[in-house]
Amino acid sequence: MSHSATSRIQEHIGDPVSDAPPVGREKLEEIFQDIQADLRYDHELNGCLNCGICTATCPAAHYYDFSPREIVQLLWTENLEGIYDAMQEKIWSCAQCYTCAARCPFDNSPGGLIMLMRETAIKHGMESAKNVLRPFSRVMLKLISTGNQLSPDMITPDGFADWGPNVAKIDAPLDILRKAIPVPTLHTTKTAWEVNLKTSVELYTIWEETGVLDSLETIDENLFDVILDIMDEKRDDYEDWLDEQE
Ligand code: SF4
Ligand code: SF4
Repeated sequence: MSHSATSRIQEHIGDPVSDAPPVGREKLEEIFQDIQADLRYDHELNGCLNCGICTATCPAAHYYDFSPREIVQLLWTENLEGIYDAMQEKIWSCAQCYTCAARCPFDNSPGGLIMLMRETAIKHGMESAKNVLRPFSRVMLKLISTGNQLSPDMITPDGFADWGPNVAKIDAPLDILRKAIPVPTLHTTKTAWEVNLKTSVELYTIWEETGVLDSLETIDENLFDVILDIMDEKRDDYEDWLDEQE
C-alpha cells in the first residue's frame, strides 16, 4: 500500500481487542469542541513549551502513568484521538491540587484543563466517568438529599479498612458523643450537620440551574430518579411549612 494513500488522522479510534464500538471522527470532534467551548479553556491554555515543569511537580505523576504535560500537549496540538484516549483513563488520576498551575511558565492550568475534560466525559456519558463516579453514588445521594457530603453513620469499619488499627476509633458511640457537642445542629449522626428545608430547596435550584442534575442523569439514571423523588418531597414539605407560617 502506498503511504500517500493513508491519512495521518484516524477515521475511527478503538481497541482492536475490545467489543466496544469504535468512536468515529465526528464524535471525537464533538468532544473536543465541547472542551474548547468552555469559557475557561482559553484562560487555562495559553501555549505549551513542553518543558515538563508541571509533570515534575505533579504528585499524581509520581504514582500513576500520568503526566499533565502530556495532557496539555494533546490539547495544544489538538490531537483528538489522544484526547479521547486520555479521557478514558489518565485524566482521572489528577488530584486537582493545582500545583501545576502555580508552576507553569505559560500560566496554563493543566489541572483546570483536566477538570474541563472530566466534565466533558460526564456530559458524553463516557464509561470511564461512570466507572470513576459509581463508588461515589452513596456520597452523591447523601449530598443532594441532606446537603451534607458525608455523615458519621456512613463511616463504618468495613468501609475504612485502610485506616489500619485506627479503624477501632470508628466504633465509638458517636450518637452519644455528638450529643455532647454544644452546637445543636450537630446532634445527629445521619448528617454531618442539619440543613434546614429552605437551604435544601435553594441547593436543589442551584443544582438544576447549573446542570449538575443533567450530568447526574447521564451518569446514573437510577440515582437521578431517586434524587428527583427526594427533591419533590422536600419541596412539598417546604411549601407546607410556608403555608403554615401564613
Ligand atoms: S503546561 Fe506549562 S509547565 Fe507544563 S509542559 Fe507546558 S509550558 Fe511546561
Ligand atoms: S492539579 Fe492534577 S495535574 Fe496538576 S499538579 Fe495537581 S494532580 Fe498534577
